[in-house]
Amino acid sequence: MSETRLAVNAVSVEFTGLRALDHVSLSLATGEVVGLIGPNGSGKTTLINAITGQVKLASGTITAGSTTLSGLSPREVALAGVSRSFQIVRLFNTMTVFENVEAAALAKGASRTIAAQRTQNLLDELGLAAKADELGENLSYGDKRRVEIARALAAEPLFLLLDEPAAGMNDAETEALLHTLAELPGKRGLGLLIIDHDMGLIMRLCHRLHVLASGRTIAEGDAAHVRSHPAVIEAYLGK
Ligand code: ADP
Repeated sequence: MSETRLAVNAVSVEFTGLRALDHVSLSLATGEVVGLIGPNGSGKTTLINAITGQVKLASGTITAGSTTLSGLSPREVALAGVSRSFQIVRLFNTMTVFENVEAAALAKGASRTIAAQRTQNLLDELGLAAKADELGENLSYGDKRRVEIARALAAEPLFLLLDEPAAGMNDAETEALLHTLAELPGKRGLGLLIIDHDMGLIMRLCHRLHVLASGRTIAEGDAAHVRSHPAVIEAYLGK
């Protein structure tokens, strides 16, 4: 499988009176898991929003392989192979788990037969097969998050961006999620960018880490490098 690269090049994002991202560059290859960490308000969600077209760039470019993503709408970015999850779960409450995932596959243009097959495979892969007929509104929080990931995967993305997938999960749910996520890059050949406050999860899952503070990159590299980096220690512990 040939490698594709998602490249964020010197991206800045401004909100009124605030530079939320300041010349941030990040690269993510298919098959790779990168953790995006940093204190609250450091720009992590904004970076995902910038990649997926939810916020406009003040400057910089974003590409996935030979496709320029910057300037595209969220729908166009999704069609170009970049899927995401949200901090707040977005599911159809009155549809079943199966229907929720199937709808995402159909939205990507799969036929009914292909969408149904793809949905069954995803429910098996994410340990949701037994819950296929449950309504979205009746699911536990952990299961809702898994359905959201299944929905994102139903589009068969090259890159999956996850915003706090383990938030609100108990230890057992987090452990199960870790195993599911760890297998995705190898099994599906996709690149995974993950924001989470659970450092145990991040350190075990990610091949590389990218650390933001006040909208700037302050460190990047493997866990050992990042953990001992003075700027990271200062950002997390204060001066
Ligand atoms: P993180 O995900 O690291 O907690 P965010 O990306 O959510 O940080 O936020 C970065 C900064 O940008 C914060 O100061 C936040 O208040 C601000 N911000 C985020 N989204 C918006 C928005 N839509 N409008 C104005 N300010 C925003």
